[in-house]
Amino acid sequence: MPDTALDRILADFLAGDRRAASRLISVVEAGGPEAEAVLHRLYPRLGDAPRLGITGPPGVGKSTLVDALVRHHRRQERRVGVVAVDPTSPFTGGAVLGDRVRMGDLTLDPGVFIRSMATRGSLGGLARTTKEVVDVLEAFGQQVLMIETVGVGQTEMDVAQVADTVVVALSPESGDAIQAMKAGLMEAADILVVNKADRPGADQMVRNLRADLAMRPQSDWTVPVLTTVASRDEKLDALAAAVDAHREQQQATGALAGRRQARAAAEITAILRDRLWQHGHAHVGERIGDWAARVSAGTETPYTAARSLLATILEETR
Ligand code: GDP
Repeated sequence: MPDTALDRILADFLAGDRRAASRLISVVEAGGPEAEAVLHRLYPRLGDAPRLGITGPPGVGKSTLVDALVRHHRRQERRVGVVAVDPTSPFTGGAVLGDRVRMGDLTLDPGVFIRSMATRGSLGGLARTTKEVVDVLEAFGQQVLMIETVGVGQTEMDVAQVADTVVVALSPESGDAIQAMKAGLMEAADILVVNKADRPGADQMVRNLRADLAMRPQSDWTVPVLTTVASRDEKLDALAAAVDAHREQQQATGALAGRRQARAAAEITAILRDRLWQHGHAHVGERIGDWAARVSAGTETPYTAARSLLATILEETR
């Protein structure tokens, strides 16, 4: 895309044009020099809008919770941005259709911007691309950012990498807690929510979760265990209050600044790793095949091959 075209989209974006925002998000998702140029222009517009991550096993009611939270913020006239990430789906296009069905009238609300992402098109790693899409939404003027993702473990989407506060949602349905534990979600939780509290077993589950938490090492923040009935918009105010309390506590202790700095370090590392790899590959990529033949013939090990290639890269780029 010529620079002037990008300038025009940026100007429209800054004037509040939603289509321009969608296009810039696509540019950022595609990665490369244009994405870098866009982010460079948008960085000065970033503030410290709260970033809330909502994760949990499939079917616990995450989308319903997010809808309810969005409505909560809209009642207070805050502009909201939602990025719904499905790390298990290769189909970005399908998810977009799902949004319209899912969020109903919210998609017509000019104060709400919803974007779905899947793995496709996230060349820079899903967590990094997600963070950058959230950056675009914040630069667009959204005052509260939410990142919803299914927590199934073993994906490259770790919501703790992109959010200031992580809500892990469960439901009393059998197996949820075990699945969440296996996926390592419990450790990431700043707030635990047992949704579908209208179903049997919710109170027992809350007791079990509190007992589990009590066995963990103490920290500055005590993870609250709440119940909600998202489909009936019940107890969402208490959840929103817990999110605010977590943020206030994090601000007071300096943990928020620490988390944001760790996020920046992870982002720099990821970019550096990409660049180093691209640089190295440009120099020795074609020689990997020869080395692979020798390794598979048993005359070299992968380590001697990598060491030799690294020496070549350093030599040739000195
Ligand atoms: P997700 O996969 O975690 O995003 O779950 P969804 O938000 O799509 O919800 C899955 C199903 O649970 C939907 O049919 C919702 O209507 C329903 N659901 C969501 N919240 C509640 C709740 O609090 N109680 C009950 N009974 N059903 C709910």
